[in-house]
Amino acid sequence: MNDLIPHNRPMVTDEDRSAVDTVLRTGRIASGEEVEELERDFDTIYGGGASCAVSSGTAALLVALRSLQLGSDPVVAVPTYSCSALLNAIFFAGGTPLVVDVSRNDLNMDLESLEGAIARHGRSPDVVVAVHSFGAPADVQALSSVGAPVIEDCCQSLGGAIGAEPIGGFGAASVFSFYATKIVTGGHGGLVRDRDGVVAEAARDFRQFDLRTDYAPRFNVHMTDFQAAMVRSQLRRLDWIAERRRSIASRYLATLPTHVLVEAGIEEPGRMVYRFVVQLANQQRRDEVRSRLSEAGIQTIVPIERFELLHRYLGLEPAAFPVAEAMTDLTLSLPLYPGLSDAEVDHVVAALETVRW
Ligand SMILES: *Cc1c(COP(=O)(O)O)cnc(C)c1O
Repeated sequence: MNDLIPHNRPMVTDEDRSAVDTVLRTGRIASGEEVEELERDFDTIYGGGASCAVSSGTAALLVALRSLQLGSDPVVAVPTYSCSALLNAIFFAGGTPLVVDVSRNDLNMDLESLEGAIARHGRSPDVVVAVHSFGAPADVQALSSVGAPVIEDCCQSLGGAIGAEPIGGFGAASVFSFYATKIVTGGHGGLVRDRDGVVAEAARDFRQFDLRTDYAPRFNVHMTDFQAAMVRSQLRRLDWIAERRRSIASRYLATLPTHVLVEAGIEEPGRMVYRFVVQLANQQRRDEVRSRLSEAGIQTIVPIERFELLHRYLGLEPAAFPVAEAMTDLTLSLPLYPGLSDAEVDHVVAALETVRW
């Protein structure tokens, strides 16, 4: 095999293409019935509640923050080991981030790190954004013990479950992204939902800026019907996507020596393996593994680089975020997505067997 195996590659099937084409042929290509059907699909997955589809995961988080009626300048707890989209949503919602370190175990915000951040800053959050990083479920129940509502960021965990419960049904609201690299995609897109429908209703009001009899600042965060059709088409194979991802992960796991750490619970039955992230002993070893795989034609990424850590963007003291700082030196993400062919998986496994870990 001479072709490079990219770290990620969206999978678009004939069914996806035909679902999009069907919408394009109707001549009604803005937001309409397909978007409503997508919202209903999510209500079915979660066994009730209400959903509002929007233009991106960032927009979903922004409208969730606005819709929770947190008062002016809310303090929003976020994990530092995450993407800058979180900060963007917080600032545009008029909030202030309370940046929290993560646990080495699952790379998620944990109660101890959150309590540490609260103690350091002397302020309690008005809301906590719990990111289920790389598919690993954050402990939403534990995090809510600080007394603030929790928004579950499910952008990397759609299709995952804890026992029989889909991830994202516990918090005050949950948000999803359909960006090109996510679990299911429409190119771009997002969705916000909640159990009692208060957040989804406020989100709908925010989105519907046109032809209103009253004026309030609202915003065009619509999703198009052809994006929704593509997302819906992919949702129909969500179980297969989850299974394919788990089976590739178990092939990789079988080759790894025990001193190489992966996220806790990665082998649990309902787990959505969004990224396969390994933790090496030190930075030199990580870089060696990376070049060895690159020589074998396998592209890997450092899932989050040091400069991307949210506390770095905000110019906060790095010493307060030791785990996230260390993770940027020790981690590597291997290609893992349903569009990998069996031959490509075999090739990666063969290369992993030659690596000096
Ligand atoms: C992708 C992602 C977002 C942002 O979603 P966009 O659709 O790119 O705006 C937010 N949070 C997490 C954890 C993500 O992975």
